[in-house]
Amino acid sequence: MIPYGRQDIQQQDIEAVLEVLRSDFLTQGPVVPRFEKAVAEKTGARHALAVNSATSALHMACLALGLGEGDWLWTSPITFVASANCGLYCGASVDFVDIDPRTYNLCPKALEAKMEQAEQEGRLPKVVVAVHLCGQPCDMAAIHALSQRYGFRIIEDASHAIGGKYQGEYIGSGRYSDITVFSFHPVKIITTAEGGMALTNDDALASRMNLLRSHGVTRDPTLMTHEADGPWYYQQVDLGFNYRMTELQAALGVSQLERLDDYVAHRHALAVRYDDRMANLPVTTPWQHPESYSGRHLYVIRLNLERIAASHREVFEALRVQGIGVNLHYIPVHTQPYYQKLGFQLGDFPESERYYAEAISLPLFPTLSEAEQDAVVIALEKALQSP
Ligand SMILES: *Cc1c(COP(=O)(O)O)cnc(C)c1O
Repeated sequence: MIPYGRQDIQQQDIEAVLEVLRSDFLTQGPVVPRFEKAVAEKTGARHALAVNSATSALHMACLALGLGEGDWLWTSPITFVASANCGLYCGASVDFVDIDPRTYNLCPKALEAKMEQAEQEGRLPKVVVAVHLCGQPCDMAAIHALSQRYGFRIIEDASHAIGGKYQGEYIGSGRYSDITVFSFHPVKIITTAEGGMALTNDDALASRMNLLRSHGVTRDPTLMTHEADGPWYYQQVDLGFNYRMTELQAALGVSQLERLDDYVAHRHALAVRYDDRMANLPVTTPWQHPESYSGRHLYVIRLNLERIAASHREVFEALRVQGIGVNLHYIPVHTQPYYQKLGFQLGDFPESERYYAEAISLPLFPTLSEAEQDAVVIALEKALQSP
């Protein structure tokens, strides 16, 4: 089976992890700060906070922005459930904004229309989570302009997008958002096994997230509400969690980060090769904004079903039968039973539902060989011709 994504672990990664195993610190040592500094320098962010997953990073980002009961968080329906769940963790309500039919990202025009209506109804969101689907950046300038008008804060869910660029700057620079989140799950662009990071240029947000990831406990006297009892003293000043990344994970991250640009460039080369080979097939290949540089985490095709005898499901199954580990990113979040119970219905976000009816993620990862890629295209041609 050729999987849709897979990590690349090299000898230098293994040695970096072994070195930590032989050292004094398995957690809370020098390597996590080294990884954070390397990501901050790479992206141009002022602060980078490593945590045990992107889901944790989203949660603490929402809390740091003050999201709570009575507030609204908006995001795209075409994302992993974590981009929406982070709002529910905080006791806030979640709503969605339909996607742009070309980029499959949250549509700024739909966002504007929904803001106008929400303003009239007095239920403007506190936070908008902009998800860079497949690594392609959202229209951040437009979303940021709306945030100035309507007063919401912006989290970039860049789980797919490390190494990508928007307006020539690395994603994570934070020019148009409050906090950017990366995931280092093995299928993502670089990995720490499990892991995530939150980036911000705001000192207060960084300080708050630093507390939240480690129980809300501090040894810094300037953050305490009253004087220390003695040199042993620590104080809980907030209700936090244990969201820390280990030294082992960070060592893997530092080592992987060195190959980030190569990984993304290689993903682009493979994607262009797919584009070429599928030019005459009844599928829509991923449109790319000419002024951005995608992280190219996923290669999603859409079936032009009116030109194909087989159904979406039949094409998907025919690919799996041929050993192609295709996947579907994502089931619209509002159609999940959990969200249906919150009142969302089929038909609420038609562009997202249309996307879901046609999308298939083909294998794309840096060690995918050209021969494997050709096998994927041949299998697809066959699948498209099946009944
Ligand atoms: C993978 C992913 C997450 C969650 O990342 P974890 O590190 O597994 O918690 C969140 N949002 C998106 C868009 C993702 O793809």
